[in-house]
Amino acid sequence: MEDRVNKRSGSSPGRYMIETDQLTKWYGDIVAVDHLDLRVRQGEVYGFLGANGAGKTTTLRMLLGLIQPTSGRASVLGAKPGTEESLMGVGSMIETPAFYPHLSGRHNLMMLAKYTSTPLKRIDQVLAQVDLSKRADDAFQTYSLGMKQRLGVAAALLKDPVLLVLDEPTNGLDPAGMADMRVLIRKLGSGDRTVLISSHLMTEIEQICDRVCVIAGGSLVAEGTVDELRRKDRLLIRVDQIEDARRIVAGLVGEQSVAVSSGVLQVTASNQGEIEPAWLNARLVAQGISVQELRWDRASLESVFLDLTSGQLRQGKRGQSVIYANGQHQESREVAHV
Ligand code: ATP
Repeated sequence: MEDRVNKRSGSSPGRYMIETDQLTKWYGDIVAVDHLDLRVRQGEVYGFLGANGAGKTTTLRMLLGLIQPTSGRASVLGAKPGTEESLMGVGSMIETPAFYPHLSGRHNLMMLAKYTSTPLKRIDQVLAQVDLSKRADDAFQTYSLGMKQRLGVAAALLKDPVLLVLDEPTNGLDPAGMADMRVLIRKLGSGDRTVLISSHLMTEIEQICDRVCVIAGGSLVAEGTVDELRRKDRLLIRVDQIEDARRIVAGLVGEQSVAVSSGVLQVTASNQGEIEPAWLNARLVAQGISVQELRWDRASLESVFLDLTSGQLRQGKRGQSVIYANGQHQESREVAHV
């Protein structure tokens, strides 16, 4: 694979497949992408997560050389986006794929293969990869939305790319179609191929991706593995004497780590190892507090995502806090990827 990367894309082992530095795009007085620093490693399925209008498509368009950044720079497979060197190793599906409705899936792919000088034998291979072989000779207009999306992925795979860029590939699909697409993407990203997938669906990214970056207002607000981003766990403690218990626990772990919500004591840690439940329990009991329940509450990625993209962060202001997988918060100007 390294040979394949080197020969076909000019990228070399140890280098990032995608790297952006302070990538920025303004549309008039709207900043769609704001000083974005991304690092996508070889072989990972990388999730690009953001609400509608967060700047995902604009970023992907810049990475494919379809639009030019206002400032900053990007490198894809070690080359400038849009150059032959960069594009020859990249397959992409940006927004809804367009095909001739009256032609079959196979015929549509043949047209693309001829246009891109791809060997025709690839067509059967990619149709099989996306599980469309049986319907390959039916007209595109008879396909379900899920099949249309899968044909889009097949088209992106024609060149046997080392990097696959998929913009919201499950958009508009029903739950079964989404599940099929998730399985397909995981399969496509299981070897050395790198997959960059954008989505506004946390649950989707959670199930597919090795690493995730969250953007809001065009800026990076968090990056790490799903588990790392989720790490903001809370220990929930149900007691009778809540105010006494709060005071005791605050004395042990610090005021800022303790809150009371709906009559339950919440102890927050950036790392589970920082709080020892048995020890807290023993200290409370020793002080005459009767502990009725004590359990970890793992934050879902969805709640983390909503926390990250709400309020001030949603405005995507420069200089905002960025949360990295190591739990540190940094100013977005001083980005360090983990
Ligand atoms: P969605 O999930 O809804 O597709 P997105 O995260 O892909 O959203 P973008 O499409 O990149 O977001 O849009 C980011 C911002 O840039 C939005 O405010 C959008 O209105 C604006 N924008 C995007 N393209 C243009 C354009 N061609 N002209 C003007 N503004 C644009």
